[in-house]
Amino acid sequence: MTAAPAFPMFVSVPEATAHLRALLPDPGVERVPLSGALGRTLAEALAARVSHPSATESALDGIACREADTLAATADQPVPLRVVGESRAGQPFAGTVGEGECVRIYTGAPLPPGTDAICPVEQLTDQGPDHVLLRRPARPDDVRPEGQDFRAGDVVLPEGVPLTPARLALAAALGHAEVTVRRPYRVALLSTGDEVVAPGQPLRPGQVYDSNRVGLGALLRECGCEVLDLGHAPDSVDALHAALDAAGGADLLLTSGGVSMGRYDFMRDLLIERGTVTFWKVRMRPGGPALLGRWAGLPVFGLPGNPVSSLVVFGLIVRPALTGQPLRPVRLRAGTEFRGVPDKTVYARGVLRGAEVHAYRQQSSGVLRSLSDSDVLVIVPEGQEVPAGADVDVLLL
Ligand code: AMP
Ligand code: MG
Repeated sequence: MTAAPAFPMFVSVPEATAHLRALLPDPGVERVPLSGALGRTLAEALAARVSHPSATESALDGIACREADTLAATADQPVPLRVVGESRAGQPFAGTVGEGECVRIYTGAPLPPGTDAICPVEQLTDQGPDHVLLRRPARPDDVRPEGQDFRAGDVVLPEGVPLTPARLALAAALGHAEVTVRRPYRVALLSTGDEVVAPGQPLRPGQVYDSNRVGLGALLRECGCEVLDLGHAPDSVDALHAALDAAGGADLLLTSGGVSMGRYDFMRDLLIERGTVTFWKVRMRPGGPALLGRWAGLPVFGLPGNPVSSLVVFGLIVRPALTGQPLRPVRLRAGTEFRGVPDKTVYARGVLRGAEVHAYRQQSSGVLRSLSDSDVLVIVPEGQEVPAGADVDVLLL
């Protein structure tokens, strides 16, 4: 290319994410049961239909009584109380507990009227069926106050959050059996390259197994997308043209390979010459040559072919765009030096050793084990060096 390109080049990671997000269609919403909502994005705010706990309840197995009756209790001078009944989870004690009295109580059972403290079973000695001795005072802290988790009417889960196992459990506790979620994006997935071969097939010299489609397909499913597997296309303009046409019904086409500077990188040429390009190249390493464009209205994100690059670009740009969830770096101490490069943010693979992060021994974008063996991506800002002992931002893998 000699003339200045008509599209932005060398965009930042946040700019690339914003560009992709802007091209994605609105997927709409649907109602699904909680069992089918894992990984989906909540499309409504969820309010509590009940309070939890619904009444102040015991956090332990023991007895419920009046704290004031027990303040003098010690192992040497235990305090006796009369047992007047029991309170079980789901079967509360019906009466009121008076001075010098207690009820046997179990975890999750409501505190009976008249009581304000719990003494655990480990601190009790039975004296026949109707009396106990307390070896230490009962404590008001060993209860779970009504509404400690949430109160009826509280808006507890905001719209837009991904439904993790803990959030699904919470939705159930709030009293919801179904939730409104965003419809899944339909993402077509294509590998390119003459040398790329499906795993399980014989491999001739110079060929490589198609690891990208497996990794990217798994990443897409993890973010709740429907995957349309378009398989693999060779480095031929006609084959790629046909594959681009075949992806027409999808919300997004994700390709790997063929967007770099090489003579056979036809995906790049096709989009520049016969499609529309939104940007080409991101100021990141690994993953620089990523390309975003459109093919007859279909958004196309061209990931680089290098195995580490394709998965890292997905995690940094494609996933945040699909889920609407920003990257969340955390800060760690660098146990080794991390080197930056001018004009690019480096996402170095790092391994946790105690509270420190150490550089993985190999940082080549072709070494897939640098990703599978690592715990974090260490963010080294453009043109900076991170010396050993400094604090550094990392993204958990
Ligand atoms: P490219 O971006 O097409 O120039 O490819 C860069 C490197 O990534 C080359 O070494 C390719 O063999 C490799 N590569 C491309 N596609 C895949 C794939 N689907 N799975 C594994 N490696 C790939
Ligand atoms: Mg290629």
